[in-house]
Amino acid sequence: MINDFNYLKPDTLKEALAMYAEHDDCKVICGGQSLLIVMRQGMISPEYLLDIKHVTELDYIKFDKKDGLRIGATTTHREIEKFNVIKKNYPVLVSMENKLASIQVRNWGTIGGNLAHADPAGDPAPVLIALKANIRVGGAEGDRTILLEDFFVNYFETALNKGELVLEVHVPPPEPKMGAAYQKFNLLESDMGIVAAAASVTLNDKGKCKDARIVLGNAGATPKRIKRAEELLIGKAYDENLFAEAGKIASEDCEPVADIHASEEHRRHLLGVLTKRMLKKAWEKARS
Ligand SMILES: Cc1cc2nc3c(=O)[nH]c(=O)nc-3n(C[C@H](O)[C@H](O)[C@H](O)COP(=O)(O)OP(=O)(O)OC[C@H]3O[C@@H](n4cnc5c(N)ncnc54)[C@H](O)[C@@H]3O)c2cc1C
Repeated sequence: MINDFNYLKPDTLKEALAMYAEHDDCKVICGGQSLLIVMRQGMISPEYLLDIKHVTELDYIKFDKKDGLRIGATTTHREIEKFNVIKKNYPVLVSMENKLASIQVRNWGTIGGNLAHADPAGDPAPVLIALKANIRVGGAEGDRTILLEDFFVNYFETALNKGELVLEVHVPPPEPKMGAAYQKFNLLESDMGIVAAAASVTLNDKGKCKDARIVLGNAGATPKRIKRAEELLIGKAYDENLFAEAGKIASEDCEPVADIHASEEHRRHLLGVLTKRMLKKAWEKARS
């Protein structure tokens, strides 16, 4: 059962930030796809709900070859999935969104809500971190931009200060000879992953690895970069043994916990396999 709350419905971002600053026990709601579940479970019962779903200033997708991609916080998963410029320039984002929940959830759930919820099993974060995204957040006092990888602090905890909203996600322009891949392992299609791995690989003119990112999902409290494996790849040529070695490091360096879906050991194994596969896939995309 959901306890009674007072409903606040701002029309503009300025109004939303003022209302958020004014009310102490206040929770933001956007698509409600995650928030209503925790409210129904009685885990939280805020006195005020601030509904930002209709703040149209935050509902946009913009792309510029020099600046990259900018997605407003209230943009739905479905809008991202359907946006042709994203399909062309960041296909990994579309394939990730394709497997996020059901169409019904994607039609209503938003990118800002997904990131702010900070579920370690959330799909967008590992992919966006592999693409070197940052996030713009702001409150009545002003805005700030942080690297997305620094945004996640702990299980369901972010670097948002009191009174701050997620405003925008920014992804840099796609680099030449860069490929990216993402896969989650789930028992039910269109559900949260038991674990997930994202990889991006950038090659130099000689076809060797110039830059790489490996980011794991549901492998600890926050999306986890496997820097030891990333470093191993720099300067190397395509080699399946190398991907296997990176996978082994990923399974050692991740920090998954056991739950009813999978043991810690099984998760480590899956993360190693997914890392190896995603690196190979990302590298092949970078080559093509
Ligand atoms: C059946 C089902 C299946 C799902 N499967 C997946 C899946 O496979 N992968 C996946 O990643 N997710 C999945 N989800 C989760 C869900 O899709 C996302 O978490 C959703 O996108 C959250 O967006 P929302 O707008 O609904 O957020 P809400 O539920 O409205 O809010 C979520 C949290 O973020 C806060 N918040 C929302 N917007 C902002 C903002 N702009 N600034 C600051 N705080 C904000 C809220 O206060 C709340 O704490 C699933 C959900 C359901 C119901």
